[in-house]
Amino acid sequence: MPFIPLSAAPAEGTILDWNAALTRRLRSRGEDAPASTPPALPAAVDVPRIERAFREILLAIGENPDRDGLRDTPRRVAKAYGELFSGLSEDPSRHLATAFEQATQQAVVVSGIEFHSTCEHHFLPFFGKAHVAYLPSSDRVVGLSKLARTVDVFARRPQLQERLTEQICDALEEHLAPRGICVVLEAEHLCMRLRGAKKPGAVTRTLGVRGHYRRDGDARREVMSLMDIRQA
Ligand SMILES: [Zn+2]
Repeated sequence: MPFIPLSAAPAEGTILDWNAALTRRLRSRGEDAPASTPPALPAAVDVPRIERAFREILLAIGENPDRDGLRDTPRRVAKAYGELFSGLSEDPSRHLATAFEQATQQAVVVSGIEFHSTCEHHFLPFFGKAHVAYLPSSDRVVGLSKLARTVDVFARRPQLQERLTEQICDALEEHLAPRGICVVLEAEHLCMRLRGAKKPGAVTRTLGVRGHYRRDGDARREVMSLMDIRQA
């Protein structure tokens, strides 16, 4: 089966083979602001509580939270957490519920979606690229930026890379009921770079496959060849 790859890589993502006509139609119907725009919902974190807690952490590591450079740090950290964990108060259906009809039976591949998340074991960042592909069913497709926003909703939570991969698959399955799903995440974990194993540059890849791409190895290899997966 021939594939029409659609690449809507936000920011510095790599653009693969671009099907301009189909992309223009998708854009005219479903696209909104660029995927790199921060989520619109306000962060639902308890800022004063994080401030108090972080002041305790500063004391616990032997710092003086009242010295000049640190005085406003608990507040800054609390606000940063509001952004980093905004996905906890956001429902991914907000982005995927507005599927629209488009006469295509071909795979949709969005490659190089940059994401940043937080390892829930060490509360240190992990970050990298997500590559998302699905094979539409009943002509139901979704705006390309919505895929990137869906990745963001789940990434902006305390996470495990394995669970993040599965949650993206689950959301696509629930809202688009596609015939196949293939999601590849590749990320570097600062908890591996800075502590423990201390292995800078190590890339962790996780793969989520459903439906047609699980059953058909050739189709899976073909769709993965359209993803701009970093070579180790
Ligand atoms: Zn970790």
